[in-house]
Amino acid sequence: MGDKFKMPRTTELEFGGPVGALFLPVLLPCTVFYLLLACRTEGGSVWSLPSPLPAPSELWDLDAFLLVLGWFGLQAALGLLPVGKVTQGMQLRDGTRLAYRINGLHSFVATSLLLGLGLLGGLRLSSVHDRCVQLAFASTVASFALSVFLYGRSLGVPESALAPGGNSGNPIYDFFIGHELNPRVGSFDLKYFCELRPGLIGWLVINLAMLMKESELRGSPSVAMVLVNCFQLLYVLDALWHEEAVLTTMDIVNDGFGFMLAFGDLTWVPFTYSLQAHFLVSHPRDLAGTTAAAIVLLNALGYFIFRRANSQKNTFRRDPSDPRVAGLETIPTATGRQLLVSGWWGLVRHPNYLGDLIMALAWSLPCGLAHALPYFYVSYFTVLLIHREARDEHLCRRKYGSAWSEYCKRVPYRIFPYVY
Ligand code: NDP
Repeated sequence: MGDKFKMPRTTELEFGGPVGALFLPVLLPCTVFYLLLACRTEGGSVWSLPSPLPAPSELWDLDAFLLVLGWFGLQAALGLLPVGKVTQGMQLRDGTRLAYRINGLHSFVATSLLLGLGLLGGLRLSSVHDRCVQLAFASTVASFALSVFLYGRSLGVPESALAPGGNSGNPIYDFFIGHELNPRVGSFDLKYFCELRPGLIGWLVINLAMLMKESELRGSPSVAMVLVNCFQLLYVLDALWHEEAVLTTMDIVNDGFGFMLAFGDLTWVPFTYSLQAHFLVSHPRDLAGTTAAAIVLLNALGYFIFRRANSQKNTFRRDPSDPRVAGLETIPTATGRQLLVSGWWGLVRHPNYLGDLIMALAWSLPCGLAHALPYFYVSYFTVLLIHREARDEHLCRRKYGSAWSEYCKRVPYRIFPYVY
């Protein structure tokens, strides 16, 4: 591969540069354990240190580690099955495109069938609740091991295979963001696999385990628990249904595959996104019918905005002459692409984030207002999406220049109309 395709050095460093990249791999796992332990305390408080803290030796459990590896192995095996269509990813620096098999939904259905058979055969899924901290620890160990492997192998790949966002030359930073863009073992794409399958489907399995634990303790699941399970099931099914859309995200196009995504996808998502269900096991809550109905409506509103905004942009990007989007007002850019400036994308510059945040709030509300812990997700997610919006804005400004400035002038608010 000639120098023509060499990836330029990444000069604009994010997440606090190498210093942030050094601390985050310690801070993020500690946050996961803290939240899981706090969830089990009587007070369920985010502010007081859970006690007694488990000894480090109590965190390691070989069975939990094997279970986590077995889970990744099962999802990898399902991902390799020759079912589902094969699609092309975005064009790479050298002009080529990678092929991806779209079968996340098939993996979900197969996993559900296997789980159903297991439950009929006497599998006690609720034990996931009792061993959640050990499972999270095992997943953290696996995420670190994967990140070390990824960084090691990235040192031997051609420069054209490196990530635009993870080629700073600083090993700590590149380890964190990810040095290689699309690490593959044969045709198996490691980053694409981790983005949606083990973490998202694992999140649902943990939620279901919490529901079963609650049923064991109280005879039946509470309305609050059922709502949390259903809302998050809808969200994950939507992501799997629209799996192809992940191929255009900055995670796939810009960031490499390193600790940030490995830990985020495999450990952070399943163990912190399931916090509300986990919390409800030790903090039961009765919901009045009207409150439950109001929360369902809020989630439906969030989902409506999220889905319509994402679909409108995806339809437009696939075919601007599609009758569903052809009447929308646009701004031309020097790249030949256009920017939508009416419809959902004329309301705010990230209407999809707005819908996502409304849903995040609806997932926390079933847990009541007495504790801050179940609101961790919506708080963290607000910070994540504000930061992500800033990253995307920066990339778009570089890509579209004055056309982007014009868009910002026409649509001044980023996420929340008239607020931000
Ligand atoms: P987006 O779907 O928001 O895409 C941003 C891109 O859209 C831009 O880079 C630009 O790319 C294009 N774009 C921006 N404005 C316009 C416009 N006016 N007209 C046409 N195209 C435009 O990216 P994300 O990956 O951040 O989000 C995807 C979804 O995933 C969101 O709904 C988000 O909420 C969700 N998400 C969820 C997470 C979770 O943990 N639950 C984490 C991250 C995201 P281009 O011009 O090149 O097409």
